[in-house]
Amino acid sequence: MSFEENVLIGLEVHCQLTNLKTKLFCGCSSDYRGKEPNSNVCVICLGHPGSLPKPNKGAIEYAIMTGLALNSTINSRTSFYRKNYFYVDMSKNFQISMYETNGSAAICTGGYLDINVGAKKKRIRITRIQLEEDPAKLVHIGPIDLSPYTLVDYNRAGMALLEVVTEPDLSSPREARVFLQKLRSILEHIGAFDGGLEGAMRCDANVSVEGGARVEIKNISSFKEVERALSYEISRQAAMIKKGERVVRETRHWDEIRKVTISLREKEEEYDYRYFPEPDIVPLHITPDYVEQIRAKMPELPDARADRFVKEYGIPAYDAQVLTSEKALADFFEECVRIYRDPKTVSNWIMSDLLGVLHEKGMEIQESKITPKALAEMLQLIKEGTISGKIGKIILPEIVETGKMPSQVVKEKGMERIADREIIERVVEEVFAENIKAVDDALTDSNAVNYLIGQVMRKTKAKGDPKLVNEIVRERLERVKKRR
Ligand code: ADP
Ligand code: MG
Ligand code: ZN
Repeated sequence: MSFEENVLIGLEVHCQLTNLKTKLFCGCSSDYRGKEPNSNVCVICLGHPGSLPKPNKGAIEYAIMTGLALNSTINSRTSFYRKNYFYVDMSKNFQISMYETNGSAAICTGGYLDINVGAKKKRIRITRIQLEEDPAKLVHIGPIDLSPYTLVDYNRAGMALLEVVTEPDLSSPREARVFLQKLRSILEHIGAFDGGLEGAMRCDANVSVEGGARVEIKNISSFKEVERALSYEISRQAAMIKKGERVVRETRHWDEIRKVTISLREKEEEYDYRYFPEPDIVPLHITPDYVEQIRAKMPELPDARADRFVKEYGIPAYDAQVLTSEKALADFFEECVRIYRDPKTVSNWIMSDLLGVLHEKGMEIQESKITPKALAEMLQLIKEGTISGKIGKIILPEIVETGKMPSQVVKEKGMERIADREIIERVVEEVFAENIKAVDDALTDSNAVNYLIGQVMRKTKAKGDPKLVNEIVRERLERVKKRR
C-alpha cells in the first residue's frame, strides 16, 4: 500500500520531564516508578480543596528549550487553565494545562522539525508546545474493555508533561516513528528526560485516510506500537472507505495484545471541557532576556552533533545520523572513541554488529550491560591479533548480556587466537589427508586453496591466525607440487 498521497497523520506527544526532581506543581518526587501505589502524593497533586499549586521553574525552562530546539516562537505571555472533566484519573476533576485562547497562548507556538525519510528530508510543522500535569495511572486487568475493575495509582498524578503537537504533515507510520525517535533524542540532549523509562514518552496519533474523518488513537506507549497502531488503523479506514462506509470522528484505543484499535468514545468537543483560567497561578510573563539566558545554555543538539561526527571523526553522514538518533548511543560511541582512537572502526562495529545484537535481543543500549570500555578492549584484542574479528562477533552477544570484559570471555572460552606454528601445521596435515581431491585441485585452482584454508579455520574453530594458516597451507602445497 502506498501511504504517500492520501494519508494524514498528526501527533500529540506527551513527554514526562523525568529529569526534574519534583512534579509540576508540588514538591513530590518525580521518581515515582516502582513505589508503593498512592504513596508518592500530597494535598496539591491530589487536588485537596485549598491546596495551592506552584509552577516548577525547571519545567518552564525545559519547555522554552524545546521551543528553541524546534524553531518555535516563545510567547511572552502564557497562562494555565483548568480543563474540566470527570474521570477517576484526576481526583480534582480538572487538569491544569496551558491553553490557547483569546489573550493566552501555549508557551511555544509554531516551529518545525526536519526528519530524514530514506534519502529525503521532510519538514514537519509544529503546532504548539505546552505544559500540563500528568493524570494518575489506571491499571487494568487484561484488555481495557474486558477488565472487571480498574485500579488507580496517583503516584504519577501531577508529573510535569510536555506536550508537543504536530500539524498533520506526516504521511506514513514509518515517518511518525522517525519523528518520535528524533524528538526523543532532542529532548534527551536538552536533558529534559530519559525516554527509556516506561511510559515517559506517550503519544496520541491522529490519522485520516482519503479525506475521511480523523480518528484519534490514544496513549500509545512505544515507537514500535505507534507504527503498528497506525498501520492497522490506516488499513481499517481504507477498507471502510472501499466498502462505501463512513469513517466517523472518534477516539480509539490501541490494544497491544490483540493488535487492534477499539472504539472508546465519539470525540468530545472542545467546549465540553469548560476551560477557564486557573485562579491560583498568575500568568507567566516571559521576557526576551530570559529566553536569551536559556538560549545561551542550550547544549549541542542531535543534528549539530551528527555534523560534528562527520567532520571530527570522518564517518559517513548516514552513520552519524544513526548514532545521534539516540543520545545514549552517541555518548557510547564518543566514549569508545576516546579510549580506542579509530572512529571508523568503532562506528562500523556499532553500526553493523552491536546494533544488530541489540535489535535481536529487543534491547536499547541503556538496557544492555556492554560498556564503551568493553567494546574498546575488544577492538584492541582484534588489532593485536589476540582474537580474530570473527571471534569478536561470536563473543559480542555475551558481552552485551553480561557486561563481562572481552579478555575475560576469551579466556573463559579458550578463544585466544592460535598463533603456534606447530599446532597449525598439525591441523593442516589432517586437512590435507582428509581432502585428497581438493589438494589435487588446489595445485591449479585458487578456489580450492581457499577451500583448504577454510577447512583449517573450521577445525581451529576460527581461532587459527588467518595469516599463518594461509602461509602454512601454501607452503604445504608447494611441497606437494615439488614431489609430483
Ligand atoms: P484535539 O483537540 O482534537 O486534540 P488538536 O487541534 O489538538 O485537536 O489536533 C490534534 C491533532 O490532530 C494534531 O496533531 C493535528 O495535526 C491532527 N489533525 C488535524 N487534522 C487532521 C486530519 N485531517 N488527519 C489527521 N490528523 C489531523
Ligand atoms: Mg489535543
Ligand atoms: Zn504532590
